[in-house]
Amino acid sequence: MSFVYAIPLHNRFRGITVREGVLLRGAAGWGEFCPFADYSDTESAPWLASALEASEVGWPEPVRDRIEVNTTVPVVSPERAYELVTASGCRTAKVKVADPRSSLVDDCDRVAAVRDALGPAGAIRVDANTAWDVDTAVKSIRELNRAAGGLEYVEQPCPSIEDLAAVRLCVDVRIAADESIRRAEDPLKVAVAEAADVAVIKVAPLGGVRRALEVAEACGLPCVVSSAVETSVGLAAGLALAGALPTLDFACGLGTRSLLTGDVTTDELSPKDGYLPVPRTAPEPNTAEKFAASQETTEHWQARLTRVQHHL
Ligand SMILES: [Mg+2]
Repeated sequence: MSFVYAIPLHNRFRGITVREGVLLRGAAGWGEFCPFADYSDTESAPWLASALEASEVGWPEPVRDRIEVNTTVPVVSPERAYELVTASGCRTAKVKVADPRSSLVDDCDRVAAVRDALGPAGAIRVDANTAWDVDTAVKSIRELNRAAGGLEYVEQPCPSIEDLAAVRLCVDVRIAADESIRRAEDPLKVAVAEAADVAVIKVAPLGGVRRALEVAEACGLPCVVSSAVETSVGLAAGLALAGALPTLDFACGLGTRSLLTGDVTTDELSPKDGYLPVPRTAPEPNTAEKFAASQETTEHWQARLTRVQHHL
């Protein structure tokens, strides 16, 4: 049994304005298959493996029952950034920077507004999504670190592992690897230890909770579990991973429900006071009909699902 959804986002994110995907029902419950449009069928296979783990197998036993999460600040005005962070109740904020529509000055203003909202005890991390070369990264990170009154880490400043390592030698801010792990041909073999201080891991691109636990162990770095902007069905898998990691030193990027204008379940995984519970199964998508995709979108996803099955 499957259901295709289409949910508008509040702000453009990764170039999209509507999040789409397929909810799959199996013997163990519900799973979510929602690779972004730029993922090939081969790259989408782990996303399907993750959805099938959730729906057919279930997740390993957690070692903790709640997860601290960060709030995410998209490319918005400083005033809006302040409001978003204050309303979130989170003590950690992740700010998107280096977007083509935003200058370094804009980014610094947004980060400073986030510091005002969080106070001195809060943690601010920024995500550049591979946008910079080494020189731009070093200059930008220094300025952002100043504007933030200290950054917790900077996520994927440059595309390559070599460039991450070069930047890491020049700045006093921790480097986190995200795309380097997520889009690696073999995430188990990525040598990020010299290039990063933190690993960002996501359940779906890594092929499920068990596989992501193996990647976490193989990379040998403290991990942050992050979402791929899923509905609460997919977020539950991220929480299962965060719940099962042997150690967890940083807030996780799983408080992303608020980026979507709605959810497929009344049992929403929205943070309360900066925390989310670790669920044993995904919540029942009992309001999915409200976000039923068009006939054309549904057919597109069903065809994609069929093609990706051949790559498992
Ligand atoms: Mg990232």
